[in-house]
Amino acid sequence: MDTEIFLIATDNIDNCGADLDKAASYIKEGGLVAFPTETVYGLGGNGLLANASKKIYEAKGRPSDNPLILHIADAKAVDELTDYVPDMAKKLIDAFWPGPMTLIFKKSDIVPYETTGGLDTVAIRYPMHPIALELIRRSGCYIAAPSANLSGRPSPTKAEHVITDLDGRVDAIIDGGDVDIGIESTIIDLTGDRPVILRPGFITEDMIKSVLGDVCFDPAVLLDHADSSIVAKAPGMKYKHYAPKAELSLIEGDDLAVLAGFLKMIKEAKNKGLKVGVIVTKEHEDAIDADAKIVLGSKNDLKSIAHNLFASLREMDDFGVDVIYCESFSNEELGRAIMNRLLKAAGYNLISAE
Ligand code: AMP
Ligand code: MG
Repeated sequence: MDTEIFLIATDNIDNCGADLDKAASYIKEGGLVAFPTETVYGLGGNGLLANASKKIYEAKGRPSDNPLILHIADAKAVDELTDYVPDMAKKLIDAFWPGPMTLIFKKSDIVPYETTGGLDTVAIRYPMHPIALELIRRSGCYIAAPSANLSGRPSPTKAEHVITDLDGRVDAIIDGGDVDIGIESTIIDLTGDRPVILRPGFITEDMIKSVLGDVCFDPAVLLDHADSSIVAKAPGMKYKHYAPKAELSLIEGDDLAVLAGFLKMIKEAKNKGLKVGVIVTKEHEDAIDADAKIVLGSKNDLKSIAHNLFASLREMDDFGVDVIYCESFSNEELGRAIMNRLLKAAGYNLISAE
């Protein structure tokens, strides 16, 4: 299939109406369009059409028990897509929508099981990216959209990433430049008595607590090692994810120990004749050298770290390194979401530098 690329600047949407209408018509007709959101690029199809959801799974190579998130452009849509809206949902919606938060509800009958991976629950998000909103509105559809990467690969934060993974597999890709946040939405399950974070993201535990007074984590989110006895409640979280092609290890410890750890690991890998990549914070940029080096940003600027994370994993693939060593981060605030993605990308390969 030929994939059409639409170049649309976020600040010039009004002049791109014809392209947006064309992209929207692909969705309306049951086709697939990748588009930017404030979190990562999404791969969209009409979420109420079983066949469109099937196409999404196919294009991504995604296991069909891994449900899709429905994207809406008006919070009222929640009434139509769900069976029951608890009070805590209304509070969260007022506080964080539109924005990088996905809520899980009991689904209504109009949502096909193909979209929910066979579950009786549905994930819904009201994004704030103007291109995403315009595409949803012009298509007149609720757009089911997982991240627009091939299954298992790092989520796409630039249109080039989407083109690398999905060119020839989708009808169109909207290139709206770099995304803002760079990691996927916070997912909160509201189907039980207590709200549960199934996937950490930009909306943090503290932000949710400030609105609801209470929230807990799905036990699978808190793991820092592989444990097959604990099953993630968000089906997607159980799969190997976000992984670069080279073997990735995270190095943790206090500042000096981390530096020593890097030097030791780099030396050992070089002795084996391996090509080594490192992903480091600005604070360690000068002290660490390797065949390829990417600086994520200052360790005090977690927004930059999150923004650059997935792109850096893909860039390492382009450098063709054999092994990658990356700094680890504390679980404070946005650090929890960053570590959640990094641990999965590294297959929980965490090296403690003493
Ligand atoms: P992605 O769109 O690639 O960010 O993946 C969507 C994530 O949402 C996956 O981890 C899914 O498992 C999760 N998800 C979607 N729908 C549900 C649901 N009904 N219950 C629990 N998790 C869900
Ligand atoms: Mg994904």
